[in-house]
Amino acid sequence: MGASKDVAAKDGDSRLGRRALLIGGAAAAVGSAALARDELSRLWWRLPGVDKPRVAGAVDFRGARWVPASAANYRRADRPDDYPVDRVVVHVTQGGYASAVKVFQDPAHRAAAHYVVRRDGRITQLVRELDVAFHAGNRAYNERSVGIEHEGFVEDASSFTDAMYASSARLTAAICARYGMPVDREHIVGHVEVPGTDHTDPGRFWDWDRYLRLVRAVRGPSAA
Ligand SMILES: [Zn+2]
Repeated sequence: MGASKDVAAKDGDSRLGRRALLIGGAAAAVGSAALARDELSRLWWRLPGVDKPRVAGAVDFRGARWVPASAANYRRADRPDDYPVDRVVVHVTQGGYASAVKVFQDPAHRAAAHYVVRRDGRITQLVRELDVAFHAGNRAYNERSVGIEHEGFVEDASSFTDAMYASSARLTAAICARYGMPVDREHIVGHVEVPGTDHTDPGRFWDWDRYLRLVRAVRGPSAA
């Protein structure tokens, strides 16, 4: 978890800059005859002016349960149009599932992750991936990442169950696929690795090798 206090003001100039770059990149990509159909469908909604639909209760990961976080704990955005997404940040809740959901619904908490994965592998989504959730304690990392909390404690190895690893890996694999993100430790990071953080999660008992192996197994050999 993070105690991030993101500033709500937006940096208009740099947003325009990124958007212009995206337009150029998309236009160049569309010119390629080798572009696959699913690649095209992935790119169309990167174009500016495309207002992505928001359906009440809809989730970005099939099978996730939708429990909305307080609007004070994230910033409405239009990712990846306004901010490219190129990181998954792995967290540990330092508490039970119910208390994590409770604080993410509390406007005074000023933090929430996009997802919480329970010990039994069930996944809850609290913030749309379109939006910037305050989970990393670092504004730039919040803007570029999807945050996944895992129920448990960093100092309790038994927190991290087989079911949790398996379902979290499926979630991360889907996120990597959605944003064209490589499956590696540069792009899938722990909260502890976010610049400026004083958080230690997911901690020494989180098995990174196992986790990346599982994510790659879902994504297939091309992901490495
Ligand atoms: Zn954290």
